[in-house]
Amino acid sequence: MLTKTMPYAITPPAQASLPIADSDLLFPLNRVFCIGRNYAAHAVEMGHDPDKEPPFFFLKSPSNLTTDGAFPYPSRSSDVHHELEMVVALSKGGTDIAVEDALDCVFGYGVGLDMTRRDLQGEAKKMGRPWEVGKAFEKSGPCGPLVPVEASGHPTDGEIWLDVNGERRQTGDLNQMIWKVPEMIAILSQYFELQPGDVIMTGTPSGVGPVKRGDVMHAMITGVGELTVAVT
Ligand code: MN
Repeated sequence: MLTKTMPYAITPPAQASLPIADSDLLFPLNRVFCIGRNYAAHAVEMGHDPDKEPPFFFLKSPSNLTTDGAFPYPSRSSDVHHELEMVVALSKGGTDIAVEDALDCVFGYGVGLDMTRRDLQGEAKKMGRPWEVGKAFEKSGPCGPLVPVEASGHPTDGEIWLDVNGERRQTGDLNQMIWKVPEMIAILSQYFELQPGDVIMTGTPSGVGPVKRGDVMHAMITGVGELTVAVT
């Protein structure tokens, strides 16, 4: 079938992407799903019950993810928090994916930050409003390169920590995730048709806190890598 390709009225935005460790190829980003309160100790520090209640998700925009090592302090907030998270990148998707099949969809893993305007997120929570102004702002997702599964395996335990200016702020273990990676993929696929290029930010361990201009964040996830980001 012949399809007439029509020109765009404006220059299309660049395809958002993440680098891949030890590769000249890029991983093209589709959607960025984020899970809330996925480590019990973080749920408690945010004033919630750590019991295994059904997971909930929100989204960032693909173009929010950056890899230039800089986080520009955003406008309209005076309480911006770091949330260190393991990133899961999907090379396959589908609907109603079984938990047993879910890991077949994973391309690789990365270190990411779900930077959050906590004051605006708090107001939104109080008023029952959506979270985008607190979560999905420009450059709110600094990330490291993705490590393909062939190199990382599927990390299920090991330290996850974040320092600010050399002081330990967040500590946890990947085995403390309330909802595990295969479960997150399976549940998301009941609500969305997952697609190659989708990524999942898998929640943050306890110790979230504010940053200020001039701070340097340094994060590590066992088996996945390290990430250094300066607040500018
Ligand atoms: Mn988060």
